[in-house]
Amino acid sequence: MSRVMNFSAGPSMLPEAVLKKAADEMLDYNGSGQSVMEMSHRSKTYQAIIDECESLLREVMNIPDNYEVLFLQGGASTQFAMLPLNLATKSGSADFVLTGQWAKKAFSECKKLANAHEVASSADKTFTYIPELDPSTFDKNADYFHICMNNTIYGTKYVELPDTGDVPLVADVSSCILSEPIDVSKFGVLYAGAQKNMGPAGLTVVIIRKDLIGEPKEGTPTMLTYKTHAENGSMYNTPPTYAIYICKLVLEWIKNDIGGLEKMKERNERKANMLYDFLDSSKMFKGTVEKKYRSLMNIPFVTGNEELDAKFVKEAAAAGFVNLKGHRTVGGMRASIYNAMPEEGVKALVDFMKDFEAKNA
Ligand code: PMP
Repeated sequence: MSRVMNFSAGPSMLPEAVLKKAADEMLDYNGSGQSVMEMSHRSKTYQAIIDECESLLREVMNIPDNYEVLFLQGGASTQFAMLPLNLATKSGSADFVLTGQWAKKAFSECKKLANAHEVASSADKTFTYIPELDPSTFDKNADYFHICMNNTIYGTKYVELPDTGDVPLVADVSSCILSEPIDVSKFGVLYAGAQKNMGPAGLTVVIIRKDLIGEPKEGTPTMLTYKTHAENGSMYNTPPTYAIYICKLVLEWIKNDIGGLEKMKERNERKANMLYDFLDSSKMFKGTVEKKYRSLMNIPFVTGNEELDAKFVKEAAAAGFVNLKGHRTVGGMRASIYNAMPEEGVKALVDFMKDFEAKNA
């Protein structure tokens, strides 16, 4: 069996060590005589797994004690609604920076439930940059200020966080969580779908400052209330048990095999620089994002010729480099190089691109 180099934007590659460990433990987890998938979430064995997952996440991300960690379902997309339902309860307004499709979706969902205010947008240049922000345009009474930290489709990321003063900063970190250290104390809420850097789809992680878990808007369903999950250790109902177990294995890999998030950042920078340096020197391939805002995780690029793009994607797939086609709304190519993509994978892709350029010049 040979594994492909998978550049999917998510779900995406998992570390091979994690998959092997999960395979080893598939039929009999730790002498329990069952798979983690078959276990009651109320069992002692399972409680130890979720507790360890939370404690590793707290350790690896250096999460302060005044934050709650919630293991939820419904994807990052459900957070687009849970945030206004639970947080937009004082002034009923929230500020948004529109930096791509996911930020726009969070904004539109909020509009259904609260007053959503657009502070800035990079739509004028197809979201190829992060707008400069002027704090005097922020709503001082907003209940929260929302950003999408890494824009999966367009390949941009924030280099500086907006100064929102006392207004809680809320960030969608679906496509950058665990890719580098992040100062959790600067945020009111961080949330992420797990299917890029944390584990399989089906798990959504929410890290929320405890004082923000108040009472939701009247009529908010129980399952969409942060308080429900916080008061029940993410076990009000059945949590995504297997996804949490894989997340635990991924966190063990980050801590023990990689050596933590500083090391992960260095590794991710080496990987991204390999590809960006090539894009900057190539006469055929060009990156599409303003250099200052380049993502470490998602790298879009084009040849400028749609037929050549299609030929590249097809030949790359045949050579074992899969899922390089750009998002349907952007075209061209995109290489998502999340934590689990090995350095050799990026090097091999760059070699393949050089070869393609030489043959098609
Ligand atoms: N936000 C970002 C930044 C994403 O990349 C994605 C998924 N690609 C989402 C939100 C939506 O996540 P989900 O599919 O988990 O709802």
